[in-house]
Amino acid sequence: MSDLPTPRKKFALHWQILLGLLVGAALGVTANCLAAQGDLQDVVDQIVRVADPLGKVFLRLIFMVVIPLVFSALALGVAGLGDARRLGRVGLRTLLFTVGLSGAAVVLGLTLVNVVQPGRYLSDEQQAELNRQYGSQAQEEMLNAKKAKPLADILLDIIPENPLQEMVGAVDGSSKGGGMLAVMFFALAFGVAMLFVPEKTQTLTNLLEGVFAVCMAIIGFAMRLAPYGVACLVFAMTARLGLALLPPLAGFIAVVLLGLGLQFFVVYPTVLWLFARRSPWAFFRGISDAVATAFGTSSSNATLPTSLRVAEENLRLPREVSQFVLTIGATGNQNGTALFEGVVVLFLAQVFHVDLSLTQQVTVVLMAMLAGVGTAGVPGGSLPLIVVVMQSVGVPGEGIGIILGVDRLLDMCRTTLNVAGDLTIAACVATRRD
Ligand code: ASP
Repeated sequence: MSDLPTPRKKFALHWQILLGLLVGAALGVTANCLAAQGDLQDVVDQIVRVADPLGKVFLRLIFMVVIPLVFSALALGVAGLGDARRLGRVGLRTLLFTVGLSGAAVVLGLTLVNVVQPGRYLSDEQQAELNRQYGSQAQEEMLNAKKAKPLADILLDIIPENPLQEMVGAVDGSSKGGGMLAVMFFALAFGVAMLFVPEKTQTLTNLLEGVFAVCMAIIGFAMRLAPYGVACLVFAMTARLGLALLPPLAGFIAVVLLGLGLQFFVVYPTVLWLFARRSPWAFFRGISDAVATAFGTSSSNATLPTSLRVAEENLRLPREVSQFVLTIGATGNQNGTALFEGVVVLFLAQVFHVDLSLTQQVTVVLMAMLAGVGTAGVPGGSLPLIVVVMQSVGVPGEGIGIILGVDRLLDMCRTTLNVAGDLTIAACVATRRD
């Protein structure tokens, strides 16, 4: 998404966003120093009051399509598993490995972010300032409503009584039920039901594909505004906080890289060893082309042809297995993305001082896993879904501006993990079939 072709080829979008971050931060820090020295505080406040809403324009465009995007992506994702039924055991094993590996990735990420606590590197004063800027009453109320509920009700609320009401509540924070998780459940149930009446749902599938494509196009437009939006958001933040956000951001990057590294160098080799009876070293040598392509393109979809080739030529996996697992995995199995989404949400929750209960952290785990299924395998594909998960646990969606400037680097790394995860699953599924 962040690679949307621009008519006049100048600067790739991710570089523009990084530049926006740097310009916004430089101007913001200067404004912060000027305000601290003289009596310019009022002028700086006025500028921030203009910059802040300007920065939120592109985010609003993304929020605007979140519901249709989540619904169409998940329903289509599940409906696309039609082949899984046909493939029986292969489908089931793929599903089990997918759930296991993304679950492991999210839990790993959340454990690290809970231990390192990079979002807590801000003083109480700075946190209060951020919350004044972004926190909302509705979010607090929503949190309190959720905290007071017994576990049985929280679980029951995942099944929505009125999906339309949940869609509204999930976006504006007024949901008293399952919120976005309930919307996701509805989409999953819808997709599963579509599998049972395939002869009646061709038009519906086309319609959902159309809705999905339109949402992605709107997000593409929004992302073109992202460089300016990020500049304004970062300016507003640094003008108030100075460079205080730098240490938390560095800690966040370190946690993401450490989590991705552990999944790549410890979890995958262990799984390969146990379930595929393969030497991890030979495996990684075999998939190196796919790893390099994923790193370079930040897109699982763009890497699919290379993954298919290395699976066949280097790993010597049976073609029908690798085609099935890798094609589904390019969108449906995104371990790196799931880990990243979980870490971002918890990190920003720490930054904004939103204390998440254990139940809410479990919600983040589930939603990050589901978001991994619904994320398009394109650069920056996870960003709209991160906003969804953030809002559903009461973290201000605008906070995503803090991490947008560094997203591309992390996208390259998480996509590498996504692709390696698909190939790991393909190897494990293929082995048991022999
Ligand atoms: N770029 C990722 C992929 O294509 C998706 C994301 O995490 O944004 O796999």
